[in-house]
Amino acid sequence: MVNWSQGIASKNMKVSHPLLLAKGVELFVKREDLIHPEISGNKWRKLKYHMLEALKDLTCKGLLTKGGPYSNHILATASAAASSGLNSRAFIRGECILPLNPTLNRAKELGMELNFLDRTIFRKPIEELAGMEAMDGSWRLIPEGGTDALGIKGCMEILTDSDRQDFERVAVALGTGGTAAGLLSTLAKGQSLMVFSALKGLDVSNTLGVLLGNDRFHPLREHLIPMEDYHFGGYAKMDATLLSFIRDFEQETGIPLDPVYTAKMFYGLFDQIDKGLIPRGSIVLAIHTGGLQGRKGMEERLGIDFSAKA
Ligand SMILES: *Cc1c(COP(=O)(O)O)cnc(C)c1O
Repeated sequence: MVNWSQGIASKNMKVSHPLLLAKGVELFVKREDLIHPEISGNKWRKLKYHMLEALKDLTCKGLLTKGGPYSNHILATASAAASSGLNSRAFIRGECILPLNPTLNRAKELGMELNFLDRTIFRKPIEELAGMEAMDGSWRLIPEGGTDALGIKGCMEILTDSDRQDFERVAVALGTGGTAAGLLSTLAKGQSLMVFSALKGLDVSNTLGVLLGNDRFHPLREHLIPMEDYHFGGYAKMDATLLSFIRDFEQETGIPLDPVYTAKMFYGLFDQIDKGLIPRGSIVLAIHTGGLQGRKGMEERLGIDFSAKA
């Protein structure tokens, strides 16, 4: 059983890599990926307050959410619900392909009911989808990626007070933006947040402005450094450069990366360091948001092994 009320401060691991030495930049990785094998990283943070509410509410039947077929959020929700004896149900983008991929297979094993929707219908907000299925108010609705006000609140607990003192820069990957929104809201004066979009053509400032509301976002703007050119062609796209980066990074640091988010963030961060855009002497904290469950499905789909070859 997961204890949702405990505060978690993930440890910061200092990494060594020849590039960091050469460029005089210190890099630490916050290992949010180690929080839980299935409710990993930022998905644990984003589910925390939903789970606390669901467990208080004796009429709550279960969790209802939506996501793509390899979604870390889908598996995290299935696992969170199962660990607390709640039901779970999810709308999955696209058609049902059998056998189920490892993510959906495990979600199903955990008791999640899966409903496949075509892309146009899938796009509707979770409230509307729940209405179409005549699901009553006793289901707890969680939007895609777990990103809503409660999700952002959970992500405001990622940084500790010492993180606010020790680091000049924080780096994070962005999908729906909930994690970046939470981090941005909790930076200290003088700290900046590099936000690496995993999506092509996404406007990071605009996304965070919508999530936080313009009044709240406006004063935080000066902390934000949007990084919009490290998506490798689009969401979940990958190529040989990214694959060799994943292997090299794991070999040098011992830290595994997921190909959709964290690999693109670290690639971008290293590229910025390599180009001298992060000044010598900087101390950077990169958030490892987890997502390692997604590697299996991607490896299967592409027929490649991402692990570092010793
Ligand atoms: C979901 C996810 C993200 C994106 O987080 P958002 O809050 O949606 O921006 C980043 N990294 C990993 C590993 C994820 O699973």
